[in-house]
Amino acid sequence: MASAEGRRHSHDLVPLAALISREMKNEKLEKPTVRYGCASQSKKGEDFFLIKTDCQRVPGNPSSAYSVFAVFDGHNGNAAAIYSREHLLNHIISAMPRGLGREDWLQALPRALVAGFVKTDKEFQRRGETSGTTATFVIVDGWTVTVACVGDSRCILDAQGGAVSNLTVDHRLEDNVEERERVTASGGEVGRLSIFGGAEIGPLRCWPGGLCLSRSIGDMDVGEFIVPVPHVKQVKLSNVGGRLIIASDGIWDALSSDMAAKSCRGVPAELAARQVVKEALRTRGLKDDTTCIVVDIIPPDNSIQLAPPPKKQNKLRALLFRSKSKGSGSKLSKKLSAVGIVEELFEEGSAMLAERLGTDESVGKSTSGLFVCAVCQVDLAPSEGISVHAGSIFSTSTKPWQGPFLCGDCRNKKDAMEGKRPSGVKVA
Ligand SMILES: [Zn+2]
Repeated sequence: MASAEGRRHSHDLVPLAALISREMKNEKLEKPTVRYGCASQSKKGEDFFLIKTDCQRVPGNPSSAYSVFAVFDGHNGNAAAIYSREHLLNHIISAMPRGLGREDWLQALPRALVAGFVKTDKEFQRRGETSGTTATFVIVDGWTVTVACVGDSRCILDAQGGAVSNLTVDHRLEDNVEERERVTASGGEVGRLSIFGGAEIGPLRCWPGGLCLSRSIGDMDVGEFIVPVPHVKQVKLSNVGGRLIIASDGIWDALSSDMAAKSCRGVPAELAARQVVKEALRTRGLKDDTTCIVVDIIPPDNSIQLAPPPKKQNKLRALLFRSKSKGSGSKLSKKLSAVGIVEELFEEGSAMLAERLGTDESVGKSTSGLFVCAVCQVDLAPSEGISVHAGSIFSTSTKPWQGPFLCGDCRNKKDAMEGKRPSGVKVA
């Protein structure tokens, strides 16, 4: 009798239990697991990193959690790298409009990253300390990865199945023609060091300052054409996940992106970072600070990760995959399409603030209805704000009174970065 009742009981309960378990499964499937490892070998003590896995889009709501991973490779001292590690995240968050849903929040990120990088640079320079830093800043929210970077600390994506792609652009004068042209157009000179007799040695540098990078945070003692405006790329991984490798040039001077990815495949993230550093040291020795963060974005159900994707789906995915990458585009998309969709949501690398801060009028209005500076977020008096578009080549197509607006100080910075005014000269 008891068993009959038990059966009836379970018969009644099964559909509900199944429903709950299905719902829980769906909920879980929406969010991948994030695992990470980090390893570092110091030579000059100028590499720093940030790992923060408990950030919340909506404070107090754990389901709005996201993770931040960043590498800062300092030069001419460590002050800029330390300052950026302490303040860059806050400056980015303070540039985000409040009360956004997840999709809108992700869409607003690229602009907030630009504002946060420029604000960090301005605030650090105000302290009057020399030194500068690269910054590669990665936000992982579910399957969406957003990467902002200045300098040459690279972030690569090893998608499941062996397709390796760079999510960053190296801002190195030696390899980046576009940046060489921008620096020259903004009044900088590009050349190598020359020794007696005029023989040129070493990598391309820009003068004044002699930096090999064309973008950085800090560096008040070089020309203002060395800008803190980051290249930003946002991608959405398929539900097979993938691996990110974020590292300073101590790794990339020794290993190509492919070599770094291959050197740690099949090894859990915690050990993989050490493996990559070991491989770089084995190849080149400890010539420079060497820092590596490995981040695995893993489907909650591990069986999905291990099973090869069905063939039919691959064809569909090949149709769905879209890539804006230049050059070896067809080879890359072929490789990526074989393993799933890596959807490119956003990519922009222009150094011009007018192009990066956009024309959205909702941006730059504080909750009080006052206008705020789109970069440093200070409140602006009605007569005070200068449109980011005023006086630019865009002003013919865009109203100069249209936002976003900049305070006088940020406007001054913007003009200096674009070579419209010699650095250090202030507007009255
Ligand atoms: Zn400002």
